[in-house]
Amino acid sequence: MAERTERTVNYLRISITDRCNLRCVYCMGEGGVALAPPGDILSYEEVLKVAEAAVALGVDRFRITGGEPLLRKGVVDLIARLGSLPGVREVTLTSNGLLLGHMARKLREAGLARVNLSLDSLRPEVYAAITRGGTLRTALEGLVAALEAGLSPVKVNAVMLGGVNDADLVDLALLAWAYPVVVRFIELMPLGDPEARSAGNFVSGQALLARLARQGGLSPVAKVPGSGPAMYHEWMPRRPPRRLPRLPGLGPSRTGPAVIGVISPITRPFCSTCNRLRLTARGMLHACLAADGGVDLRRAIRMGAGSAELASLIAQAVAQKPPSHGMASGRPSRTGRKMSELGG
Ligand code: SAM
Ligand code: SF4
Repeated sequence: MAERTERTVNYLRISITDRCNLRCVYCMGEGGVALAPPGDILSYEEVLKVAEAAVALGVDRFRITGGEPLLRKGVVDLIARLGSLPGVREVTLTSNGLLLGHMARKLREAGLARVNLSLDSLRPEVYAAITRGGTLRTALEGLVAALEAGLSPVKVNAVMLGGVNDADLVDLALLAWAYPVVVRFIELMPLGDPEARSAGNFVSGQALLARLARQGGLSPVAKVPGSGPAMYHEWMPRRPPRRLPRLPGLGPSRTGPAVIGVISPITRPFCSTCNRLRLTARGMLHACLAADGGVDLRRAIRMGAGSAELASLIAQAVAQKPPSHGMASGRPSRTGRKMSELGG
């Protein structure tokens, strides 16, 4: 599906719930978000209708997200059904990992290709502070389960907050050095609640790379599978680390330099190559994280729209995709939409 700047839109992120079992400081306020009444959330049948219409327009990759997507019953079956649509190349997941410990194998068997896990610190107290109550060990057990189930490459996402978790930079890089995971550092985006926007000081991707370069050898690498907006580097610590991060029940299995990604939506926006659409749990389709507009697919489906009409509405959303998100220099998004609503 090509739109007005000739970007090819082939990737749909599907948020299946606005509920979450964490309250990350950069994502939402302490009280969480106002949840939609259950009847306002797209049923799986409705999600599949949207997915089929999107596939007809050239979308061939889906990512399931939320809120916390593993909280919604039936997610394993949804993934299997999405993966079996003709023309779909892969279905992936973004999760905080807390429920992965007992779900990773079933998800893999259902055809899930890989998983991105949010993990902002390897210090239990900092993890608990950022997530407002999360248990680091449970998240790490989820990471181990994903590795053992073969959901690879497992990518760890860390939103870097100056003065909060930027001291974890090297430890997180060492996680990617000691284990077969890719770690990606994400610039804080000014979305949602003002409280979430002031979660920590902004740290640019370039500043993080400069710090890693002082601690070891750093060189750019070509694309990692499903690499999306991240710029990847290989990193080797300058001298053998005194201690390595530990994962529960899994010893380090180092194989070479760490693969480190940096996602810089603010200082190096990737809008010119953005290939994605976002479907919220309430059925709004947005072509950009931070721009106005979007189409109400739930309303259309509930008024009886068939696949041709849905495809035309999706094409309309693609046509609304702006040339850029406009959040350069950290300017807050005007829409008030939150990451937990948009699915990241
Ligand atoms: N609950 C799942 C999780 O945390 O992975 C999926 C949904 S979460 C909204 C998706 C991604 O958005 C996570 O990787 C999270 O770190 C990221 N995110 C949330 N708020 C953000 C913000 N203000 N700036 C940058 N990334 C953010
Ligand atoms: Fe929940 Fe993910 Fe937002 Fe954290 S980032 S509060 S885990 S939706």
